Amino acid sequence: MPHKSAAVPRVAVVTGANRGLGRETSRQLLAHGMRVVMTGRDAAAIERAQRGLANTSENLVGVSMDVTDAASIEAAHREIVERVGRVDVLVNNAAVLLFESAEVLAIPADAFRRTFDTNLFGVIEVCRVFVPAMARRGYGRIVNVSSGAGQLARMSTYAPAYSISKAALNAFTRILAETYRGRGILANAVDPGWVRTDMGGPSAPRSVEQGVDTIVWLATLPDGGPTGGFFRDRRPIDW
Ligand code: NDP
Repeated sequence: MPHKSAAVPRVAVVTGANRGLGRETSRQLLAHGMRVVMTGRDAAAIERAQRGLANTSENLVGVSMDVTDAASIEAAHREIVERVGRVDVLVNNAAVLLFESAEVLAIPADAFRRTFDTNLFGVIEVCRVFVPAMARRGYGRIVNVSSGAGQLARMSTYAPAYSISKAALNAFTRILAETYRGRGILANAVDPGWVRTDMGGPSAPRSVEQGVDTIVWLATLPDGGPTGGFFRDRRPIDW
């Protein structure tokens, strides 16, 4: 049954929520009146981030989840369902950027694997555990935080392992969206732009507030909104 009552807040789960864009996404979704589950692989870091946002709000919950560990994802899902009841919105934000400046053939195979483990397989695994229940209830918003670096239309030599993983994430986003089309699930990819975080560095032109604008917009899409798209600044961009 679609969740209809406006009085009952939507529940959003954010991965990699202890810092950067994940933490700011959590803050803004909370401000939108949602119940937000901040997840991360370091329980203490999640607790600190949660305290930093709103230590008393019952709408903010912290749960450990390492997206590269299937058992951890299953355990997190069980804990979230127990504590919050359900999940309506999933923001797949966690990612790693390894060997940013190396040439593609100089990157060790293990670094490609670690990158894909987090940036692609982690997202697929989290979706495998969280999305079927959304589909059963007929409501879901899935936001895959991708990158302009993963745009095939503008692919350069920048951060090869990361860029290839984000291009693959975009392909997964399209397939996921088509799989659930017409069942209340809207799944989209987003490029937040170059943002001042630990990953983006201090020279990036965008603040975290600007960076999460399109993430939050996609997380709060009305019924009938776009699905299977790739967006920057709330506009579709080339794959
Ligand atoms: P940060 O490096 O600041 O944060 C990354 C987050 O991912 C951290 O919370 C980190 O947790 C978490 N994480 C990494 N591995 C795992 C894991 N195995 N399980 C759970 N959490 C994990 O990056 P940003 O905030 O800048 O990036 C957020 C998203 O935005 C990423 O998908 C990134 O690719 C994308 N993006 C960022 C851009 C930018 O300019 N900043 C540009 C384009 C895209 P921990 O603290 O434990 O390491």
